[in-house]
Amino acid sequence: VSDVPVRAVGIDVGGTKLVGAAVAEDGTIVARARRVSPVGDPDALVEVIATLAEELGAGSPVGIGVAGIVDRGGVLVYAPNLDVVDVPLGPALHERLGRRPVVLNDASAAVVAESRLGAAAGARDVVLLTLGTGIGGGLVVDGSVVEGANGFAAELGHVIVEEGGRRCPCGNLGCLEAYASGTAIGLLAQERLAAGATTALADAETIDGKAVSAAAQAGDEVARQVLAEVGHWLGVGLAGLVNALDPEVVVIGGGAASHTAGSVLPAATASMSPRIIGAPPRRPPPIVLAQLGDDAGMLGAALVAVERDGP
Ligand SMILES: [Zn+2]
Repeated sequence: VSDVPVRAVGIDVGGTKLVGAAVAEDGTIVARARRVSPVGDPDALVEVIATLAEELGAGSPVGIGVAGIVDRGGVLVYAPNLDVVDVPLGPALHERLGRRPVVLNDASAAVVAESRLGAAAGARDVVLLTLGTGIGGGLVVDGSVVEGANGFAAELGHVIVEEGGRRCPCGNLGCLEAYASGTAIGLLAQERLAAGATTALADAETIDGKAVSAAAQAGDEVARQVLAEVGHWLGVGLAGLVNALDPEVVVIGGGAASHTAGSVLPAATASMSPRIIGAPPRRPPPIVLAQLGDDAGMLGAALVAVERDGP
C-alpha cells in the first residue's frame, strides 16, 4: 500500500475482464485491481464497477472506459462484447457511489492517456487506432477527446477504404477493419493459403495475426506479403483521417500492432504519405506504436475524470 494520495480511479471494462487503477496526481498508478467481466448482466456490471471504484479510492473522481458506445448521459448504448444494451451506467453508478462518474468508450479513454502520458505526450491533435479482434479508434482534437453527438465518433475502423470490398463484421463492405484488424491479418493469410500459396503457415495450428507475424519474421514470403498488404490498407485509411484531422502524430496500439509493427507501420507510412494533401513539402505525421499497453484505458479514464472534476 502506497502513501501517495489517490487523485482519481480509472476502470477499463473489457469483454473478458475489468482492470482498475488508483492514479496519483502525476499519472502514476498507485494501486491496481481486476475482476472478471459479468456478461449479459447489467446489474452485476454496475455492482462490480462500484465495488472496484470503492476498493481503489472511495470518494475520488471515477472514470470508466468501456468496450462499447456511451452517450452523453453516461448510458452504455451498445456493448456487443458485454452482451448488454442501454445500461444507464453513469446514473446507476452516480446513485451507488454518491458522485457522478465519467463514462466513455475505451479507445477514447486510451487516446487521452497516450496523448497525455504515452506515445503522443504533449500533442494536442492525435489519432489512435487499436488493432485487435476489431479496430478501435480514438481522437483527441485541440486537446479534447472527441465523442460525437451520440457517442459514435472515432469509429475509425469503419472508415471505408474500398467500396464494395471485404465484408466487415459491422455489415458494411470495405471497412478498414476488414483489412487491418488482427482478425483480418489471419483471414488474408488463410485466403492466400486456400488459393494455393506455398507458405510455412500451412503448418500453423491457427493462422492469426501472431502466427503471420512470426512467419514473416522467419522469412516467409507469403506472410510478408500479407503484412505489406495490411500496411497498405492501413495507410489508405490513415491518409483519409490525416486529411480530415491534421494530427501531429498517429498512434497505433492493440495486440496485433505489437506483433506486426515492424512490418506494418513502415508499409502504412509508405502508403499514407503520397495520399496526404500538401505533401511534399508538408511532412506526414509520424505513425508510432502506443506505449501504455493495457494500462491506457484505465489511465485515460482516470485523467478524464480529473479533467472534468474541475480544479
Ligand atoms: Zn465496419
